[in-house]
Amino acid sequence: MENNKQMRKWLDDMNLPHPLVIAGPCSAETEEQVLKVAHDLKDTDVNYYRAGIWKPRTRPGNFEGVGAIGLKWLQKVKEETGLKTATEVANRTHVDLALEHDVDLLWIGARSTVSPFIVQEIADALKGTDKVVLVKNPVNPDLSLWLGAVERLNSANIEKLGVIHRGFSTYEKTKYRNIPEWQLVIELQTRYPDLPIINDPSHITGKRNMIFDVSQTALDLNFDGLMIETHCDPDNAWSDAAQQVTPDRLVQIMKNLRIRKETDEQAEYNSKLSNLRAQIDVIDNQLIEIMGKRMKVSDEIGALKKKRNVAVLQSNRWNAILGNMILEGEQRGLSEEFVLKMFKAIHQESINHQEKIINT
Ligand code: PEP
Ligand code: MN
Repeated sequence: MENNKQMRKWLDDMNLPHPLVIAGPCSAETEEQVLKVAHDLKDTDVNYYRAGIWKPRTRPGNFEGVGAIGLKWLQKVKEETGLKTATEVANRTHVDLALEHDVDLLWIGARSTVSPFIVQEIADALKGTDKVVLVKNPVNPDLSLWLGAVERLNSANIEKLGVIHRGFSTYEKTKYRNIPEWQLVIELQTRYPDLPIINDPSHITGKRNMIFDVSQTALDLNFDGLMIETHCDPDNAWSDAAQQVTPDRLVQIMKNLRIRKETDEQAEYNSKLSNLRAQIDVIDNQLIEIMGKRMKVSDEIGALKKKRNVAVLQSNRWNAILGNMILEGEQRGLSEEFVLKMFKAIHQESINHQEKIINT
């Protein structure tokens, strides 16, 4: 896939004064609900109205979407409000039906992106379409799998492309429903600077009160747009109730976000600066996380030493670590003085941890 500006022409042509906004309910539930939310979003920053018609549910027995009838409701949305429409497609039948009902934007869901067979089937069904097609990240943090899906669409002569970051599944429970991997996104942006990238804070957070902060981080990291699940009665939504916001709240979120406008030199400077600072924040968080992990391993060593009654400080081992790290650091432009200071601090923390374990 060559890096062509063609991929983002559809977005540039919209000439938006703000990030692209895709909003609407997780699922189309009833005709009334679909139309009510759409009318509430009509005169806002929203560019595409989303609604899930076929819902990929993790466990069977939950609401699995209204099916093709919902496409008729989306057509009505377009007629009554002028909003463009968007839905998820997961196989050839979905694609055929969505195209038949003139849906403007189709996205491939996280559970489909993991399967090259399904992605290829969708790409074949969409061959040459002039609709916008967005690819959500796969549920697992695999950049090649994600980009592979984009490449399959690109090879099927689909030009209006983009990706959606909706976070990744983790076994560990975290404050996120699906953890965002900003570092992976930065790598994707470096490899394909022209590929439009949208953030989906709804599925990343799973909680409506975290949506603003994640959206702001995304904009600071140069995301081109946001997809935010919006419902007129979020608590009673048939799917993803905890993460949906009301249309009023969406308007407020959009108003409060710091949106970068690259209009003059000062703005460009500020925009670059906030982008770099957001990258630093991501890396600093990773540093703290990795230090926490290191100390946990150190605790385990402490427990082992306790069992065997071995001294905490093993100077041979420590000198070997220092020597290696000074060499590694040199290759990355870090001074010997800095590496020594940093590792002394890490070592001290490690000793404190182990002392505590041995003496309890
Ligand atoms: C959705 O957008 O409603 C959805 C099911 O998302 P995902 O594929 O990210 O889980
Ligand atoms: Mn959802």
